[in-house]
Amino acid sequence: MTLQQEIAKRRTFGIISHPDAGKTTLTEKLLLFGGAIQMAGTVKARKSDRHATSDWMNIEKERGISVSSSVMKFDYRDFEINLLDTPGHQDFSEDTYRVLTAVDSALMVIDSAKGVEPQTEKLMEVCRMRNTPVLTFINKLDREGQFPLDLLADIEEKLQIECAPLSWPIGMGKRFKGVYNLYRNELHLFRPGEDRRKTNIISIDDINSPELDQLLGTQAQELRDDIELLQGAANPFDRDEYLRANQTPVFFGSAINNFGVQEMLDAFVELAPPPGIRAAAERMVAPDEEQFSGFVFKIQANMDPAHRDRIAFLRICSGKFSRGMKVRHHRIGKDISLANATIFMAQDRAHVEEAFPGDIIGLHNHGTIKIGDTFSDKEPLKFTGIPSFAPEHFRRVRLKDPLKSKQLQKGLIQLAEEGAVQVFKPVNGAEFILGAVGVLQFDVTMERLKAEYNVNAVYEGVDFTTARWIRAKDRKRLEEFQKKNQNNLAIDAEGELTYLAASEWRLQHTLEQWEGIEFLKSREYK
Ligand code: GDP
Repeated sequence: MTLQQEIAKRRTFGIISHPDAGKTTLTEKLLLFGGAIQMAGTVKARKSDRHATSDWMNIEKERGISVSSSVMKFDYRDFEINLLDTPGHQDFSEDTYRVLTAVDSALMVIDSAKGVEPQTEKLMEVCRMRNTPVLTFINKLDREGQFPLDLLADIEEKLQIECAPLSWPIGMGKRFKGVYNLYRNELHLFRPGEDRRKTNIISIDDINSPELDQLLGTQAQELRDDIELLQGAANPFDRDEYLRANQTPVFFGSAINNFGVQEMLDAFVELAPPPGIRAAAERMVAPDEEQFSGFVFKIQANMDPAHRDRIAFLRICSGKFSRGMKVRHHRIGKDISLANATIFMAQDRAHVEEAFPGDIIGLHNHGTIKIGDTFSDKEPLKFTGIPSFAPEHFRRVRLKDPLKSKQLQKGLIQLAEEGAVQVFKPVNGAEFILGAVGVLQFDVTMERLKAEYNVNAVYEGVDFTTARWIRAKDRKRLEEFQKKNQNNLAIDAEGELTYLAASEWRLQHTLEQWEGIEFLKSREYK
């Protein structure tokens, strides 16, 4: 198969949703269609780690299971699908954002009773930053929910994206009869409790056919009225608009009943984009270039409880990967051999012989790989757009044993490189300040400092609530700024000057005072 063909059949995506909308359930069903049946129980088991918020060892115990679900690779029809797990913690982390930098499209799951929820909004913001195409699955139609038209209006208003329904539900809750596929003119009949792989599909060319009345009774007329209404009110589906992220095709169903899932998956593989062109600082990189290139978007520690290993997840952007190949690690300027790369199949971890753009491979990391690192054949490249966000929570770290300060520093720097937490060294003051986007990261950091670096420390509250990275063209102005704001300045793990503020109001005040100084809310990994 040619490189072009390998690329054309790949779909790399992530699911965005608010907790409890049905992401886990839907993932299981998708894997079933992909033939990865062993996985069915596994995805559920993974859920338990969500609640072990403060006990890292417990989290670790679950890892054997959760690992393979960080990236799940499965085949469906002629397609090879990489499903990247966007961590579903209530507590939002930067990890979630970064996973979305590695996908080509997203699947949004919405609970039909709840409509658009806060976390969906946040994740959608990230998709919008990168113009990631989004396909929507409205779930739980077997329950009473909001009216479909209201749901579409809710999505359009809150998420600022046009909806184009490709299927339409017939009733809901007890009256849920199925969905009508609007682009194939097919009726999919629903029978509750049947977790079947083949849906009961009836082709109906003419919506006015009496057959519809026989099948749906009085609800046939409701469907006709709905469809008539839709023709006036809803946007016709336009694939280009979807690919440009201006429009989201919408499907309705019930994940737990495995209803509407396969038709959504069928549309997904046909409509969603294959791996595309990616921006590097130097130039645009096309997937079908012969040269191999990829970037690291996630580092996960302790995936294998037997070894304290850390795996770097690399998304391939161009060319072909083959086992044992030598690549250039540009940040440290060294050639390394990718001998032990792992690919994450839905069933287990396997050694990879070859992999292609859109695929994710796992590299063993002995402290030389950071988030944002680019690997390529030779040409120096640096993929852009892997963000670090201004933290919203802060803690001061107080060491219990002063002799351990070296270990503490080493541990914190490594954890920062993994993106687990952000580390700041105040310009005035000796103790580190940690920053995070979600507070869960603090618990995990502390547990890991203890377990992996043998460091006993405690947290103290600190009076900061927001941070900005500082840039300035005028050196004199910068020096003046530094002099006047010493108590609010710190250096982060990458040596960047950061301003920490006690409140948004304070920040605003400083911002207005210091013209010529840039305050950045996010920055890219160097
Ligand atoms: P996640 O937090 O988004 O991963 O959500 P889960 O997949 O764990 O689902 C949350 C809850 O909703 C669970 O109790 C599921 O059994 C339930 N659920 C998922 N899909 C459906 C559905 O189609 N209908 C109904 N009634 N419940 C569902």
